Amino acid sequence: ELALLDAKANADAVRFFDARAHAHAGLESALAHALTRGEYVLHYQPLVDTRHRRVVSAEALLRWESPEHGLQSPAAFMPILERGDHIIEVGAWVLREACRAAQSWGGTDVRVAVNLSARQFTSPGLLDTVRQALRETGLPPHRLELEITETLMMLNPERTERVLRDLRSDGVRVMLDDFGTGYSSLGYLARFPLSGLKIDRSFVRQMMQDPQGKSAAIVRAMVSLSRDLNLELVAEGIESLQDLDVVMAEGICVVQGYHFARPAPDWRPPGAG
Ligand code: C2E
Ligand code: MG
Ligand code: MG
Ligand code: MG
Repeated sequence: ELALLDAKANADAVRFFDARAHAHAGLESALAHALTRGEYVLHYQPLVDTRHRRVVSAEALLRWESPEHGLQSPAAFMPILERGDHIIEVGAWVLREACRAAQSWGGTDVRVAVNLSARQFTSPGLLDTVRQALRETGLPPHRLELEITETLMMLNPERTERVLRDLRSDGVRVMLDDFGTGYSSLGYLARFPLSGLKIDRSFVRQMMQDPQGKSAAIVRAMVSLSRDLNLELVAEGIESLQDLDVVMAEGICVVQGYHFARPAPDWRPPGAG
């Protein structure tokens, strides 16, 4: 009887696994055509400088309009995309499309921020792709900022250093995204020519729970570190006025979050022609 039960449990497990593998394979082939079928869209979310009360940048966030399942967030498809080489082409499209959009925000100097994937960042064609996107769209390099993560930066530190120097000497800005959640030593902040740091939103959540707690102490250290190293500091995940008050009290002036705007297609900066 026990053996029978086991066999049944096994068969269930196999069916379950098959179903998942199947759904996965389906998703993978659907994604392979998404680019040529024009199913990717970018949503934009502003970064606000509270000192001057103005939008300084907008982050381009990728969405997939699946004909079958509707609008999909990166969490649903990025991990699959990350496994194939196709991500390089998608990443190049994101760069070009984001630069094109920013260039269309005529009469402003609002920047556009683009997230880079690991494969894209380590691909030999990255610099060419960035330069080509700028050239094709005519966007001035100082209006483009690239967001990379600590993990990505540490894959090959020697190469990262070279790539960042080249990007910075072209005038492109580089932000360290999700700062504080990866594994890297602070020494790298001195080694890599970064423009700024984006504090991960988990710190904002934890500070709200315990304003005098350890996360608040870490954020205070990030504030003084960024000041001394001349790095711009951004807090993400500002969802409410209370969140804003807490980060502003710590001296963080550039903020991003639902409190100001959710990511949206067709976003344009205030005052754009
Ligand atoms: P990220 O770069 O850290 O982007 C911020 C994420 O936080 C976005 O999620 C954004 O919609 C969300 N967010 C913004 N404000 C708030 C807030 O106030 N509260 C909360 N709870 N969330 C907020 P999204 O758009 O789902 O993107 C998730 C991640 O996917 C991004 O995290 C980024 O790592 C990645 N990603 C997005 N677009 C691209 C892309 O074009 N290329 C690559 N390689 N990765 C991308
Ligand atoms: Mg980002
Ligand atoms: Mg982020
Ligand atoms: Mg984050």
